[in-house]
Amino acid sequence: MKTSYDHIVIGAGALGSAAAYRLAKDGHTDVLVLEQYELGHTRGASEDHSRIIRHTYHSTVYTALTPAAYAAWDEVEDETGLQVVFRVGGLDLAVTGTPGERELDGYRASLAPLAAQGVTWENLGADEIRSRWPQWRIGDDVVGLFQSDGGILDVRRATAAHIALARARGVEFAPGTTVLGLSSTDRQVTVSTSRGEFTAGSVVLCAASWTPTLLPGLGVDWPITLSQEQVSYFATPHLRDFAPDRFPMWIWHGDSFFYGFPVYGEVAVKAARDMSGRFVTQETRSDVPDPAETELVAAFLRDRLPAAAGPELVSKTCVYDMAPDREFILDHVPGHPRIVAFVGGGHAAKFASLLGEILAELATTGTTTHPIHAFRADRPALTDPGFVPSFRLAAAVR
Ligand SMILES: Cc1cc2nc3c(=O)[nH]c(=O)nc-3n(C[C@H](O)[C@H](O)[C@H](O)COP(=O)(O)OP(=O)(O)OC[C@H]3O[C@@H](n4cnc5c(N)ncnc54)[C@H](O)[C@@H]3O)c2cc1C
Repeated sequence: MKTSYDHIVIGAGALGSAAAYRLAKDGHTDVLVLEQYELGHTRGASEDHSRIIRHTYHSTVYTALTPAAYAAWDEVEDETGLQVVFRVGGLDLAVTGTPGERELDGYRASLAPLAAQGVTWENLGADEIRSRWPQWRIGDDVVGLFQSDGGILDVRRATAAHIALARARGVEFAPGTTVLGLSSTDRQVTVSTSRGEFTAGSVVLCAASWTPTLLPGLGVDWPITLSQEQVSYFATPHLRDFAPDRFPMWIWHGDSFFYGFPVYGEVAVKAARDMSGRFVTQETRSDVPDPAETELVAAFLRDRLPAAAGPELVSKTCVYDMAPDREFILDHVPGHPRIVAFVGGGHAAKFASLLGEILAELATTGTTTHPIHAFRADRPALTDPGFVPSFRLAAAVR
């Protein structure tokens, strides 16, 4: 059995599959992808029907990357003939006079540099929101920010597409192979697995919420927090009103950050609360949804989107992998220039194909032209023990 490769990718989720595809697309085809479970398994963060894709973000650190993120998905769609991005529109809402409204101001400021690239957005008052989307039950004190490129990334389909495109270029996948440890020298990286030892010129570590299990062996202790998250599908009887051509993806900037989608994937609307704050480990996480969390989201729908509040169809749990500032970690592992790592903070799917390209560049050339300085491993959030964690995806407006 072949045990030595130019590049080994750990993890076949949205990020690892993207890195494998992008390595091969750049001509680096001697690649092995190690995955502990079967391909397409549901214990990771990349196996639901939908994830939000958007230009609207709390910081120019991300809007500096969103146009390239969309372009990367265009390439995948062109190569596969599969649609993975659905621009149903994205609506951010907040109540005037609240921190949520100031968050929307932050989003507008982050969008401003994109105007030169043709990205447009609309500032809406309550009347306009109600006339365009009468599904919303809102008072006159609600405002909105609408951006037409916002929408749905079919992350399950996108990940499967990355895997197929990588395979088509000769990349090998080894599902059911658990990486137990990593070590590196100036010349190579050694990867110990449940199926023996492998070596590679470089390793791309895309293990997401399992990353903390592999870092101590490398002498690195990034303070990554795992949060158990949950999404729910509600079987609304008013399907036509919540169809993608009539209802956008949405984010409610309240004390809680609620978000949701039109009918997609399931015959139901999907809604959830971001960052539940239920901190777990890989040992304490649970696949069993919490009915109290489902009820909290259902109550929000009954209040704000009453026609969407049908019976619960299904709820799913999933885990965020968060640095203390919830920014991405995208860098070489300190002390191991042959190992590149990524941690997504619970908001990386929309960028996955682009991030795969950046990971491939870092693994093969050591650098990238994309602006990723904010994601470096030596930043205070990862190195300063006194850093105070903040997990809300918002510029510090609270
Ligand atoms: C509830 C929820 C909602 C989200 N909503 C959004 C959204 O709206 N928009 C957005 O952009 N992002 C969103 N995200 C985040 C996004 O889904 C993730 O950032 C992205 O899917 C991460 O992909 P990944 O490949 O890094 O992780 P995963 O998909 O978790 O992949 C990691 C893989 O590594 C494998 N692995 C780990 N350790 C080992 C090992 N030791 N040996 C071998 N294999 C290993 C795992 O089995 C797994 O398959 C959400 C996440 C959650 C949980």
